[in-house]
Amino acid sequence: MKKSFILIMMLVLSVMYLNAQVNQEFIINKYKPIAEKIISKVMSDSSSYKNLGYVCDVFGHRLSGSENLENAIRWIVKEMKNDGLDNVRTDSVMVPHWVRGKEECIMTSPWKHKIPVLAFGGSISTPKGGIKAKVLVVNGFDDLAAKKDLAKGRIVVYNVPFKNYGQAVQFRFVGAINAAQAGAIASLTRSVTPQNLVSVHTGMMVYADTVEKIPHGAISIEDAELLQRLQDRGISPEMSLTLESESLPDVLSYNVLGELRGNEKAEEIIAFGGHIDGWDLGTGAHDDASACIASWGAIKILKDLGLAPKRTLRSVMWANEENGARGGKAYAAQHGDEPHALVFEWDSGCFAPSAVRFTCDSSLFQILKQMEPILKLINKDLVVDNRGGGVDIGPMMRLGYPGGSLSTNDQGKYFVYHHSDSDTFEKIVFEEYNQCLAAMAVSLYIYADLPIDYFKYIKKN
Ligand SMILES: [Zn+2]
Repeated sequence: MKKSFILIMMLVLSVMYLNAQVNQEFIINKYKPIAEKIISKVMSDSSSYKNLGYVCDVFGHRLSGSENLENAIRWIVKEMKNDGLDNVRTDSVMVPHWVRGKEECIMTSPWKHKIPVLAFGGSISTPKGGIKAKVLVVNGFDDLAAKKDLAKGRIVVYNVPFKNYGQAVQFRFVGAINAAQAGAIASLTRSVTPQNLVSVHTGMMVYADTVEKIPHGAISIEDAELLQRLQDRGISPEMSLTLESESLPDVLSYNVLGELRGNEKAEEIIAFGGHIDGWDLGTGAHDDASACIASWGAIKILKDLGLAPKRTLRSVMWANEENGARGGKAYAAQHGDEPHALVFEWDSGCFAPSAVRFTCDSSLFQILKQMEPILKLINKDLVVDNRGGGVDIGPMMRLGYPGGSLSTNDQGKYFVYHHSDSDTFEKIVFEEYNQCLAAMAVSLYIYADLPIDYFKYIKKN
């Protein structure tokens, strides 16, 4: 009894000692020289940026269920192996297969005007021959409720200016449910974007089991405003709308994994990356190929420098986020039992990095915060902050693992490109991409190497 008590005390004291020495002085002395090496290599290397360009330009947009996505995945796996990453492999994931068809929207009265239109992901098709109806413009759900008597048999148009993504996206996400409840036969949403250059932005929508399903899509700011001004003059615009789309049976796709095995606690995992799927527009350069290719690039650079941290760094490219979030769910089902010291996702666009975020125990966060001066070598505005998270890592975080993410300073540009034809490779600035890559490589190298017992801070659910 006495012997085991002494043993336990020794263990407790050694853990206390381990954590006690991890202060800012320790972190800076140990990791600043390593970070300087990583940063100088990343900032002068164009190979990862070229890989990003190749994936975007050669394979194209990558909606789940598409041949494009599978072609991209096959090429990435081959090249990750060529780059010498450890344990490069794919995990099976069944993903949704929604396909866009012919789309046409014409204002037929008071004058004939072709309106660019996109169905939202998951929308049902319009009936054969399309829909011809009067338009009712509303500026929110309250306005729709107030005009309920007018909505029956009409195409409801939500004309709600963009203040922020969370506020604007609800009309895309659940707009069809509210419009159908009011008696509308289709609904359209002003694109979720702050900018007006006749761009149209798609995204995910949902139906409710108990409410009739109606076709739901997006139009540009200009056309939503035109319809609004006509209605405000007492003129009811008329429209003919065709949105052909189809939900096919789920198909097999893959999460992609590649590692740098840890040299001391290899069984402990730091998983990080982004989602490799994207909408069927543009080439998903910002959303979210940049994060995927940079996570591979971070491991490649560390390998080239001969740097291996104590724990295993695992690049993960989740197969399906945009229209089903199946990649993250499958990852948690397949790997939730492996001890993850951290799951980390970057899905906020590729601009200058502004924050490396961690959602974890507050005393652990205080230790992680100490790496901030090192990250400022990459970009002076870069901070370590709390509130990390993301759709793909959500299922692992719900199991109790700490979650992290990279935020970027988009200066209002992200939602100009997001989910539209303009999310393409030339929008990615070489230096900003490499700064993001360096932010992940440095912060996650340090995380993976710190002499800390992470599982002291993790309560598994
Ligand atoms: Zn995304």
